[in-house]
Amino acid sequence: MSEKFDVIVVGAGPAGTSCAYTCAKNGLNVLLIERGEYPGSKNVMGGVLYRKQMEEIIPEFWKEAPLERPVIEQRFWMMDKESMVSFGYKGLEWGREPYNNFTVLRAKFDQWFAIKAVEQGALLINETVVTECIVKDGRVIGVRTDRPDGDVYADVVVLADGVNSLLGKQLGFHKEFKPHEVALTVMEVINLPKDKINERFNLEDDQGCTVEIFGDSTKGNLGTAFLYTNKDSLNIGVGTTLSSMIKAKMKPYDLLDYVKSHPMVKPYLEGGEPLEYLAHLIPEGGYNSIPKLVGNGVIVVGDAAQLVNAIHREGSNMAMSSGKMAAETIIRAKERNRYDEETLDYYRVNLYNSFIGKDLKKYKDAAHTFEEYPQYFKEYLPMVNQAASKFFTVDGTAKRDKQKDIIRSFTKEKGAVKVIQDMYRAWKVMK
Ligand SMILES: Cc1cc2nc3c(=O)[nH]c(=O)nc-3n(C[C@H](O)[C@H](O)[C@H](O)COP(=O)(O)OP(=O)(O)OC[C@H]3O[C@@H](n4cnc5c(N)ncnc54)[C@H](O)[C@@H]3O)c2cc1C
Repeated sequence: MSEKFDVIVVGAGPAGTSCAYTCAKNGLNVLLIERGEYPGSKNVMGGVLYRKQMEEIIPEFWKEAPLERPVIEQRFWMMDKESMVSFGYKGLEWGREPYNNFTVLRAKFDQWFAIKAVEQGALLINETVVTECIVKDGRVIGVRTDRPDGDVYADVVVLADGVNSLLGKQLGFHKEFKPHEVALTVMEVINLPKDKINERFNLEDDQGCTVEIFGDSTKGNLGTAFLYTNKDSLNIGVGTTLSSMIKAKMKPYDLLDYVKSHPMVKPYLEGGEPLEYLAHLIPEGGYNSIPKLVGNGVIVVGDAAQLVNAIHREGSNMAMSSGKMAAETIIRAKERNRYDEETLDYYRVNLYNSFIGKDLKKYKDAAHTFEEYPQYFKEYLPMVNQAASKFFTVDGTAKRDKQKDIIRSFTKEKGAVKVIQDMYRAWKVMK
Protein backbone atom coordinates (compact mmCIF):
# COMPACT_ATOMS: atom_id res chain seq x y z
CA MET A 1 0.00 0.00 0.00
CA SER A 2 2.46 2.67 -1.07
CA GLU A 3 -0.27 4.93 -2.42
CA LYS A 4 -0.33 8.65 -1.70
CA PHE A 5 -3.38 10.30 -0.13
CA ASP A 6 -4.28 13.92 0.55
CA VAL A 7 -4.87 13.03 4.19
CA ILE A 8 -4.20 10.05 6.45
CA VAL A 9 -6.21 10.04 9.67
CA VAL A 10 -4.99 7.72 12.43
CA GLY A 11 -7.86 6.56 14.67
CA ALA A 12 -11.58 6.29 13.93
CA GLY A 13 -12.92 7.76 17.18
CA PRO A 14 -15.08 10.90 17.11
CA ALA A 15 -12.07 13.16 16.38
CA GLY A 16 -10.62 11.13 13.53
CA THR A 17 -13.94 10.30 11.89
CA SER A 18 -15.10 13.94 12.03
CA CYS A 19 -11.91 14.96 10.27
CA ALA A 20 -12.11 12.15 7.70
CA TYR A 21 -15.80 12.85 7.02
CA THR A 22 -15.28 16.58 6.47
CA CYS A 23 -12.19 16.12 4.28
CA ALA A 24 -13.87 13.44 2.14
CA LYS A 25 -17.05 15.50 1.79
CA ASN A 26 -14.91 18.30 0.38
CA GLY A 27 -13.40 16.05 -2.24
CA LEU A 28 -10.11 15.13 -0.57
CA ASN A 29 -8.61 11.69 -0.92
CA VAL A 30 -8.72 10.32 2.65
CA LEU A 31 -7.37 7.19 4.33
CA LEU A 32 -8.80 6.46 7.81
CA ILE A 33 -6.81 3.85 9.74
CA GLU A 34 -8.25 2.09 12.81
CA ARG A 35 -6.50 -0.53 14.92
CA GLY A 36 -9.74 -2.06 16.27
CA GLU A 37 -11.71 -4.81 14.60
CA TYR A 38 -14.16 -2.04 13.72
CA PRO A 39 -14.44 1.62 14.79
CA GLY A 40 -15.70 1.75 18.37
CA SER A 41 -14.73 -1.81 19.21
CA LYS A 42 -12.07 -0.52 21.62
CA ASN A 43 -13.65 2.77 22.57
CA VAL A 44 -15.02 3.71 25.97
CA MET A 45 -17.26 6.58 27.02
CA GLY A 46 -19.65 7.27 29.89
CA GLY A 47 -22.02 7.91 27.12
CA VAL A 48 -23.10 11.53 26.65
CA LEU A 49 -22.83 12.71 23.06
CA TYR A 50 -23.46 16.40 22.46
CA ARG A 51 -25.90 17.38 19.72
CA LYS A 52 -24.41 20.73 18.74
CA GLN A 53 -20.93 19.63 17.62
CA MET A 54 -22.20 16.45 15.95
CA GLU A 55 -24.89 18.39 14.10
CA GLU A 56 -22.25 20.71 12.68
CA ILE A 57 -20.85 17.66 10.90
CA ILE A 58 -24.03 15.73 10.05
CA PRO A 59 -27.20 17.86 10.30
CA GLU A 60 -30.16 16.06 11.89
CA PHE A 61 -28.00 13.00 12.60
CA TRP A 62 -30.50 11.93 15.28
CA LYS A 63 -32.89 10.80 12.55
CA GLU A 64 -30.60 7.89 11.65
CA ALA A 65 -27.73 7.52 14.16
CA PRO A 66 -27.82 4.64 16.67
CA LEU A 67 -28.54 6.72 19.78
CA GLU A 68 -29.81 5.47 23.11
CA ARG A 69 -31.93 8.19 24.75
CA PRO A 70 -32.13 11.99 24.46
CA VAL A 71 -31.13 13.30 27.89
CA ILE A 72 -33.90 15.37 29.47
CA GLU A 73 -32.54 15.43 33.00
CA GLN A 74 -29.10 16.05 34.50
CA ARG A 75 -28.76 15.22 38.19
CA PHE A 76 -25.85 15.93 40.52
CA TRP A 77 -25.45 14.02 43.77
CA MET A 78 -23.10 15.13 46.51
CA MET A 79 -22.90 11.92 48.42
CA ASP A 80 -21.83 11.03 51.92
CA LYS A 81 -21.84 7.49 53.33
CA GLU A 82 -25.57 7.31 53.98
CA SER A 83 -26.95 10.50 52.49
CA MET A 84 -26.78 12.89 49.60
CA VAL A 85 -27.57 16.45 48.71
CA SER A 86 -28.86 16.56 45.16
CA PHE A 87 -29.73 19.12 42.53
CA GLY A 88 -30.22 19.15 38.78
CA TYR A 89 -32.32 20.21 35.86
CA LYS A 90 -35.10 18.43 33.99
CA GLY A 91 -36.57 20.00 30.88
CA LEU A 92 -38.97 18.39 28.42
CA GLU A 93 -37.64 20.71 25.69
CA TRP A 94 -34.45 18.63 25.70
CA GLY A 95 -36.56 15.65 24.62
CA ARG A 96 -37.67 17.38 21.41
CA GLU A 97 -35.83 18.53 18.30
CA PRO A 98 -33.20 19.88 18.16
CA TYR A 99 -32.37 18.15 21.51
CA ASN A 100 -29.44 18.91 23.83
CA ASN A 101 -27.50 15.66 24.09
CA PHE A 102 -27.94 11.90 23.90
CA THR A 103 -26.63 8.80 25.60
CA VAL A 104 -24.82 6.48 23.19
CA LEU A 105 -22.98 3.18 23.19
CA ARG A 106 -19.72 3.89 21.43
CA ALA A 107 -19.34 0.46 19.83
CA LYS A 108 -22.52 1.15 17.84
CA PHE A 109 -22.13 4.88 17.35
CA ASP A 110 -18.49 4.98 16.16
CA GLN A 111 -19.17 2.23 13.65
CA TRP A 112 -22.13 4.10 12.20
CA PHE A 113 -20.20 7.38 12.06
CA ALA A 114 -17.23 5.80 10.29
CA ILE A 115 -19.57 4.32 7.67
CA LYS A 116 -20.88 7.83 7.05
CA ALA A 117 -17.30 8.95 6.36
CA VAL A 118 -16.88 6.02 3.96
CA GLU A 119 -20.09 7.05 2.19
CA GLN A 120 -18.47 10.45 1.63
CA GLY A 121 -15.54 8.71 -0.04
CA ALA A 122 -13.03 8.03 2.77
CA LEU A 123 -11.19 4.72 2.65
CA LEU A 124 -11.43 2.96 6.03
CA ILE A 125 -8.95 0.26 6.97
CA ASN A 126 -9.62 -1.61 10.23
CA GLU A 127 -7.36 -3.94 12.22
CA THR A 128 -4.32 -1.92 11.25
CA VAL A 129 -1.97 -0.33 13.75
CA VAL A 130 0.03 2.73 12.77
CA THR A 131 3.41 2.04 14.34
CA GLU A 132 5.12 5.34 13.52
CA CYS A 133 5.00 8.50 11.47
CA ILE A 134 7.37 8.59 8.51
CA VAL A 135 9.44 11.75 8.81
CA LYS A 136 11.66 13.13 6.05
CA ASP A 137 13.60 16.41 6.21
CA GLY A 138 11.65 17.52 9.30
CA ARG A 139 8.27 16.85 7.67
CA VAL A 140 5.74 14.08 8.30
CA ILE A 141 5.14 12.50 4.91
CA GLY A 142 3.19 9.38 5.83
CA VAL A 143 2.79 6.53 8.30
CA ARG A 144 4.18 3.05 8.80
CA THR A 145 1.60 0.38 9.64
CA ASP A 146 1.86 -3.18 10.91
CA ARG A 147 0.75 -4.56 7.53
CA PRO A 148 3.23 -6.08 5.11
CA ASP A 149 4.44 -3.27 2.79
CA GLY A 150 2.47 -1.03 5.09
CA ASP A 151 3.96 2.40 4.40
CA VAL A 152 1.42 4.97 3.19
CA TYR A 153 2.00 8.60 2.26
CA ALA A 154 -0.01 11.80 2.46
CA ASP A 155 0.29 15.58 2.39
CA VAL A 156 -1.03 15.69 5.94
CA VAL A 157 -1.24 13.08 8.71
CA VAL A 158 -3.85 13.67 11.42
CA LEU A 159 -3.13 12.11 14.79
CA ALA A 160 -6.49 11.13 16.28
CA ASP A 161 -5.02 8.19 18.15
CA GLY A 162 -6.51 8.98 21.56
CA VAL A 163 -5.21 9.72 25.03
CA ASN A 164 -1.91 7.84 24.90
CA SER A 165 -0.97 9.15 21.43
CA LEU A 166 2.19 7.15 21.02
CA LEU A 167 2.60 8.84 17.65
CA GLY A 168 2.56 12.31 19.23
CA LYS A 169 5.17 11.07 21.65
CA GLN A 170 7.30 9.68 18.82
CA LEU A 171 7.31 13.14 17.22
CA GLY A 172 8.29 14.74 20.52
CA PHE A 173 4.99 16.67 20.69
CA HIS A 174 4.34 15.52 24.26
CA LYS A 175 6.14 13.67 27.02
CA GLU A 176 4.91 10.79 29.16
CA PHE A 177 1.86 12.09 31.07
CA LYS A 178 2.18 12.62 34.79
CA PRO A 179 -0.30 10.78 37.07
CA HIS A 180 -2.23 13.99 37.86
CA GLU A 181 -2.82 14.63 34.15
CA VAL A 182 -4.89 11.51 33.47
CA ALA A 183 -7.91 9.94 35.15
CA LEU A 184 -8.34 6.20 35.27
CA THR A 185 -12.00 5.37 34.78
CA VAL A 186 -13.75 2.01 34.94
CA MET A 187 -17.32 1.38 33.95
CA GLU A 188 -19.89 -1.34 33.51
CA VAL A 189 -22.83 -1.62 31.17
CA ILE A 190 -25.69 -3.23 33.10
CA ASN A 191 -28.68 -4.70 31.30
CA LEU A 192 -32.00 -3.69 32.80
CA PRO A 193 -35.46 -3.84 31.22
CA LYS A 194 -36.67 -0.57 29.77
CA ASP A 195 -39.75 -0.33 32.02
CA LYS A 196 -37.59 -0.75 35.15
CA ILE A 197 -35.31 2.09 33.98
CA ASN A 198 -38.31 4.30 33.26
CA GLU A 199 -39.85 3.56 36.64
CA ARG A 200 -36.65 4.09 38.65
CA PHE A 201 -35.63 7.31 36.92
CA ASN A 202 -39.16 8.61 36.33
CA LEU A 203 -38.81 8.63 32.52
CA GLU A 204 -40.76 7.77 29.38
CA ASP A 205 -39.30 5.43 26.72
CA ASP A 206 -37.66 8.21 24.76
CA GLN A 207 -36.28 10.19 27.69
CA GLY A 208 -32.89 9.80 29.36
CA CYS A 209 -31.26 10.88 32.59
CA THR A 210 -27.63 11.41 33.62
CA VAL A 211 -26.36 11.44 37.19
CA GLU A 212 -22.92 12.78 38.18
CA ILE A 213 -21.93 11.64 41.65
CA PHE A 214 -19.32 13.35 43.85
CA GLY A 215 -17.93 12.81 47.32
CA ASP A 216 -18.20 9.34 48.81
CA SER A 217 -18.40 7.82 45.29
CA THR A 218 -14.63 8.31 45.13
CA LYS A 219 -14.15 7.98 48.91
CA GLY A 220 -13.61 11.74 49.02
CA ASN A 221 -10.90 11.78 46.37
CA LEU A 222 -10.87 14.07 43.35
CA GLY A 223 -13.05 12.44 40.71
CA THR A 224 -16.62 11.44 39.95
CA ALA A 225 -18.88 8.52 39.40
CA PHE A 226 -21.65 8.49 36.83
CA LEU A 227 -24.90 6.67 36.18
CA TYR A 228 -26.47 7.10 32.73
CA THR A 229 -29.59 5.60 31.18
CA ASN A 230 -29.50 3.79 27.84
CA LYS A 231 -32.55 2.24 26.15
CA ASP A 232 -32.42 -0.98 28.12
CA SER A 233 -29.17 -0.76 30.02
CA LEU A 234 -27.38 1.53 32.45
CA ASN A 235 -23.81 2.77 32.35
CA ILE A 236 -22.23 3.01 35.78
CA GLY A 237 -18.64 4.12 36.17
CA VAL A 238 -16.15 5.87 38.39
CA GLY A 239 -12.79 7.54 37.93
CA THR A 240 -10.18 9.55 39.75
CA THR A 241 -6.86 10.98 38.67
CA LEU A 242 -4.17 8.35 38.60
CA SER A 243 -2.29 10.31 41.26
CA SER A 244 -5.30 10.22 43.64
CA MET A 245 -5.68 6.52 43.05
CA ILE A 246 -2.03 5.88 43.80
CA LYS A 247 -2.02 8.17 46.86
CA ALA A 248 -5.15 6.56 48.34
CA LYS A 249 -3.92 3.07 47.33
CA MET A 250 -7.28 2.41 45.66
CA LYS A 251 -7.92 -0.21 43.01
CA PRO A 252 -10.31 0.98 40.30
CA TYR A 253 -12.35 -2.28 40.35
CA ASP A 254 -12.79 -2.06 44.12
CA LEU A 255 -13.92 1.53 43.78
CA LEU A 256 -16.55 0.58 41.19
CA ASP A 257 -17.82 -2.19 43.48
CA TYR A 258 -17.96 0.35 46.30
CA VAL A 259 -20.09 2.72 44.17
CA LYS A 260 -22.38 -0.08 42.98
CA SER A 261 -23.08 -1.20 46.52
CA HIS A 262 -23.53 2.33 47.93
CA PRO A 263 -27.01 2.61 49.50
CA MET A 264 -27.84 5.65 47.32
CA VAL A 265 -26.90 3.83 44.10
CA LYS A 266 -27.71 0.17 44.70
CA PRO A 267 -31.52 0.39 44.32
CA TYR A 268 -31.12 1.75 40.78
CA LEU A 269 -29.07 -1.29 39.71
CA GLU A 270 -31.10 -3.98 41.50
CA GLY A 271 -31.77 -6.99 39.27
CA GLY A 272 -29.47 -5.72 36.48
CA GLU A 273 -27.16 -8.08 34.57
CA PRO A 274 -23.58 -6.93 34.03
CA LEU A 275 -23.00 -6.98 30.28
CA GLU A 276 -19.62 -5.38 29.71
CA TYR A 277 -16.70 -4.16 31.79
CA LEU A 278 -14.50 -1.38 30.42
CA ALA A 279 -11.52 0.68 31.59
CA HIS A 280 -9.88 3.67 29.96
CA LEU A 281 -7.80 6.76 30.66
CA ILE A 282 -9.20 10.28 30.28
CA PRO A 283 -6.80 13.16 29.61
CA GLU A 284 -7.58 15.63 32.40
CA GLY A 285 -4.49 17.82 32.44
CA GLY A 286 -6.53 20.51 30.69
CA TYR A 287 -5.16 23.71 29.22
CA ASN A 288 -1.71 23.37 30.78
CA SER A 289 -1.22 19.90 29.27
CA ILE A 290 -2.12 20.64 25.65
CA PRO A 291 0.81 19.36 23.60
CA LYS A 292 2.27 20.82 20.42
CA LEU A 293 -0.68 20.71 18.02
CA VAL A 294 0.83 21.14 14.56
CA GLY A 295 4.06 20.44 12.74
CA ASN A 296 5.11 20.20 9.13
CA GLY A 297 2.56 17.84 7.56
CA VAL A 298 0.90 16.86 10.84
CA ILE A 299 -2.02 17.92 13.09
CA VAL A 300 -3.11 16.52 16.49
CA VAL A 301 -6.82 16.34 17.45
CA GLY A 302 -9.16 15.08 20.19
CA ASP A 303 -7.86 13.20 23.23
CA ALA A 304 -4.43 13.00 21.59
CA ALA A 305 -4.39 16.79 21.99
CA GLN A 306 -5.72 16.49 25.59
CA LEU A 307 -8.96 18.25 24.69
CA VAL A 308 -11.23 17.25 27.58
CA ASN A 309 -13.18 19.52 29.92
CA ALA A 310 -13.39 17.24 32.95
CA ILE A 311 -15.49 19.68 34.99
CA HIS A 312 -18.32 19.46 32.41
CA ARG A 313 -17.53 15.87 31.23
CA GLU A 314 -17.08 17.15 27.67
CA GLY A 315 -14.64 15.24 25.49
CA SER A 316 -16.44 13.75 22.50
CA ASN A 317 -17.68 17.19 21.42
CA MET A 318 -14.20 18.70 21.64
CA ALA A 319 -12.90 15.71 19.71
CA MET A 320 -15.45 16.31 16.94
CA SER A 321 -14.93 20.06 16.75
CA SER A 322 -11.15 19.72 16.70
CA GLY A 323 -11.44 17.06 13.96
CA LYS A 324 -13.62 19.39 11.92
CA MET A 325 -11.26 22.34 12.46
CA ALA A 326 -8.33 20.19 11.38
CA ALA A 327 -10.24 19.23 8.22
CA GLU A 328 -11.02 22.87 7.42
CA THR A 329 -7.33 23.69 7.85
CA ILE A 330 -6.29 20.89 5.51
CA ILE A 331 -8.85 21.95 2.87
CA ARG A 332 -7.43 25.49 3.06
CA ALA A 333 -3.87 24.16 2.90
CA LYS A 334 -4.74 22.16 -0.22
CA GLU A 335 -6.04 25.31 -1.92
CA ARG A 336 -2.65 26.88 -1.23
CA ASN A 337 -0.76 23.65 -1.89
CA ARG A 338 1.22 24.28 1.32
CA TYR A 339 1.36 21.84 4.24
CA ASP A 340 4.10 23.37 6.37
CA GLU A 341 3.69 24.15 10.07
CA GLU A 342 3.00 27.81 9.42
CA THR A 343 0.04 27.02 7.12
CA LEU A 344 -1.35 24.32 9.41
CA ASP A 345 -1.05 26.67 12.39
CA TYR A 346 -4.44 28.00 11.25
CA TYR A 347 -5.84 24.97 13.15
CA ARG A 348 -4.09 25.88 16.43
CA VAL A 349 -5.25 29.51 16.24
CA ASN A 350 -8.86 28.53 15.51
CA LEU A 351 -8.86 25.92 18.26
CA TYR A 352 -7.60 28.36 20.91
CA ASN A 353 -10.17 30.96 19.77
CA SER A 354 -13.05 28.48 19.90
CA PHE A 355 -15.09 27.31 22.92
CA ILE A 356 -12.46 24.58 23.37
CA GLY A 357 -9.55 26.94 24.06
CA LYS A 358 -11.74 29.31 26.06
CA ASP A 359 -13.32 26.63 28.28
CA LEU A 360 -10.07 24.80 28.93
CA LYS A 361 -8.44 28.11 29.86
CA LYS A 362 -11.30 29.00 32.21
CA TYR A 363 -10.77 25.82 34.25
CA LYS A 364 -7.01 25.57 33.80
CA ASP A 365 -6.24 25.46 37.53
CA ALA A 366 -9.42 23.81 38.83
CA ALA A 367 -8.43 20.13 38.87
CA HIS A 368 -4.95 20.78 40.28
CA THR A 369 -6.41 22.99 43.01
CA PHE A 370 -9.03 20.45 44.09
CA GLU A 371 -6.35 17.77 44.18
CA GLU A 372 -3.89 19.90 46.11
CA TYR A 373 -6.55 20.92 48.65
CA PRO A 374 -8.50 17.70 49.27
CA GLN A 375 -10.75 19.30 51.90
CA TYR A 376 -13.38 20.21 49.26
CA PHE A 377 -14.32 16.61 48.54
CA LYS A 378 -13.16 15.04 51.81
CA GLU A 379 -14.48 17.55 54.37
CA TYR A 380 -16.89 20.08 52.86
CA LEU A 381 -19.13 17.57 51.05
CA PRO A 382 -19.81 15.57 54.27
CA MET A 383 -20.34 18.89 56.10
CA VAL A 384 -22.92 20.00 53.51
CA ASN A 385 -24.74 16.68 54.01
CA GLN A 386 -24.72 17.10 57.78
CA ALA A 387 -25.96 20.68 57.44
CA ALA A 388 -28.84 19.58 55.19
CA SER A 389 -29.78 16.82 57.61
CA LYS A 390 -29.75 19.24 60.52
CA PHE A 391 -31.71 21.93 58.66
CA PHE A 392 -34.44 19.63 57.37
CA THR A 393 -34.92 17.64 60.59
CA VAL A 394 -38.02 18.91 62.39
CA ASP A 395 -37.03 18.83 66.05
CA GLY A 396 -38.62 21.90 67.54
CA THR A 397 -35.50 24.08 67.07
CA ALA A 398 -36.20 27.45 65.47
CA LYS A 399 -34.90 27.73 61.89
CA ARG A 400 -32.78 30.80 62.71
CA ASP A 401 -31.10 28.89 65.55
CA LYS A 402 -30.47 26.01 63.16
CA GLN A 403 -28.85 28.36 60.64
CA LYS A 404 -26.57 29.79 63.34
CA ASP A 405 -25.73 26.31 64.56
CA ILE A 406 -24.81 25.17 61.01
CA ILE A 407 -22.56 28.18 60.40
CA ARG A 408 -20.97 27.67 63.82
CA SER A 409 -20.28 24.00 63.10
CA PHE A 410 -18.58 24.92 59.79
CA THR A 411 -16.35 27.58 61.31
CA LYS A 412 -15.74 25.69 64.57
CA GLU A 413 -14.39 22.69 62.75
CA LYS A 414 -12.14 24.60 60.36
CA GLY A 415 -11.92 28.18 61.62
CA ALA A 416 -13.74 31.10 59.94
CA VAL A 417 -10.65 32.42 58.14
CA LYS A 418 -9.84 29.00 56.72
CA VAL A 419 -13.40 28.53 55.44
CA ILE A 420 -13.37 31.94 53.76
CA GLN A 421 -9.95 31.21 52.22
CA ASP A 422 -11.19 27.85 50.90
CA MET A 423 -14.37 29.34 49.42
CA TYR A 424 -12.43 32.17 47.76
CA ARG A 425 -9.93 29.72 46.28
CA ALA A 426 -12.73 27.56 44.86
CA TRP A 427 -14.53 30.58 43.42
CA LYS A 428 -11.31 31.80 41.81
CA VAL A 429 -10.60 28.59 39.90
CA MET A 430 -14.21 28.09 38.79
CA LYS A 431 -15.20 31.68 37.92
C1 LIG B 1 -15.13 6.26 31.07
C2 LIG B 1 -15.19 7.47 30.18
C3 LIG B 1 -16.33 8.25 30.19
C4 LIG B 1 -16.42 9.35 29.33
N1 LIG B 1 -17.60 10.03 29.27
C5 LIG B 1 -17.76 11.01 28.36
C6 LIG B 1 -19.05 11.60 28.16
O1 LIG B 1 -20.04 11.22 28.79
N2 LIG B 1 -19.16 12.58 27.23
C7 LIG B 1 -18.08 13.00 26.49
O2 LIG B 1 -18.24 13.88 25.64
N3 LIG B 1 -16.86 12.45 26.66
C8 LIG B 1 -16.68 11.46 27.56
N4 LIG B 1 -15.47 10.84 27.68
C9 LIG B 1 -14.34 11.33 26.88
C10 LIG B 1 -14.47 10.85 25.43
O3 LIG B 1 -14.66 9.47 25.40
C11 LIG B 1 -13.21 11.22 24.65
O4 LIG B 1 -12.90 12.56 24.85
C12 LIG B 1 -13.38 10.95 23.15
O5 LIG B 1 -13.63 9.60 22.92
C13 LIG B 1 -12.12 11.36 22.39
O6 LIG B 1 -12.24 10.98 21.05
P1 LIG B 1 -10.95 10.70 20.16
O7 LIG B 1 -11.46 10.37 18.81
O8 LIG B 1 -9.97 11.79 20.33
O9 LIG B 1 -10.25 9.42 20.85
P2 LIG B 1 -10.78 7.94 20.99
O10 LIG B 1 -12.25 7.90 21.12
O11 LIG B 1 -9.97 7.33 22.09
O12 LIG B 1 -10.40 7.25 19.61
C14 LIG B 1 -9.07 6.98 19.27
C15 LIG B 1 -9.10 5.91 18.19
O13 LIG B 1 -7.79 5.71 17.67
C16 LIG B 1 -7.54 4.33 17.52
N5 LIG B 1 -6.08 4.18 17.59
C17 LIG B 1 -5.26 4.51 18.62
N6 LIG B 1 -3.97 4.30 18.29
C18 LIG B 1 -3.98 3.83 17.01
C19 LIG B 1 -2.94 3.43 16.13
N7 LIG B 1 -1.65 3.52 16.47
N8 LIG B 1 -3.28 2.98 14.90
C20 LIG B 1 -4.59 2.92 14.52
N9 LIG B 1 -5.61 3.29 15.33
C21 LIG B 1 -5.30 3.75 16.55
C22 LIG B 1 -8.30 3.70 18.70
O14 LIG B 1 -8.56 2.34 18.50
C23 LIG B 1 -9.57 4.55 18.71
O15 LIG B 1 -10.55 4.06 17.86
C24 LIG B 1 -15.33 9.73 28.52
C25 LIG B 1 -14.17 8.97 28.54
C26 LIG B 1 -14.09 7.83 29.34
C27 LIG B 1 -12.85 6.99 29.32
